[in-house]
Amino acid sequence: MYNESSVRKDLVFYGRKIEAKNLVVGPGGNTSARAGDIVYIKASGVAFEDATANDYIGIDLTTGKVVGSFKKPSCEILMHLGCYAIRDDIAAVVHTHSPWAMALASSGQTVPPLFPDYIGLLGTEVPLIDYVVPAGKGLADKVVEAARKHNAMLLANHGVVALGTNVREAYFRALTVEVAAQVFVTSKIMGGARVLTPEEVREVDQLEAEDYRRELLKGWSH
Ligand SMILES: [Zn+2]
Repeated sequence: MYNESSVRKDLVFYGRKIEAKNLVVGPGGNTSARAGDIVYIKASGVAFEDATANDYIGIDLTTGKVVGSFKKPSCEILMHLGCYAIRDDIAAVVHTHSPWAMALASSGQTVPPLFPDYIGLLGTEVPLIDYVVPAGKGLADKVVEAARKHNAMLLANHGVVALGTNVREAYFRALTVEVAAQVFVTSKIMGGARVLTPEEVREVDQLEAEDYRRELLKGWSH
């Protein structure tokens, strides 16, 4: 369970990783995490590589108002708040503009299950959400609808949204979407991607080793 201090530490720590892995450029993308009734989200216009603990500002989940800061929250705040409102089991949202995922989503395709880590972290599928202008209620509504059943999704011509029980889990999910997009596009170029069959997906999904790894991730925070 997060408190204000551990939320801020995780957001700063994984924000640096998101930048280091080239999942965003400059002030693109945003992350948030929930401690009780307060959601901490990256301030508008701040780049992950520069963001310090105070650049993650508190929003009251009930009123939607900023708590204890004069800064403005990320303009994509609505989709974050919407996900927390319908998912009691998540405490973090990571939104990236990662290039392979954007390329795939911009061609109207999503990432199919190609390797076991995909299934372990993302489940059996990653939905593709049609393009909607960023930052508004229209996009938030579509993301929230997909978030009812999925922990990661692609946004056409835009990026990736991943949810998690903590920032580490949401970050790994966003990174797995990017890796899956890279593997999918590359294997297509090399002669065709063999997607795992539904039976193969089910086999991996039911592995005890996958359950164990999922449980380990859930308990993690700074
Ligand atoms: Zn965005």
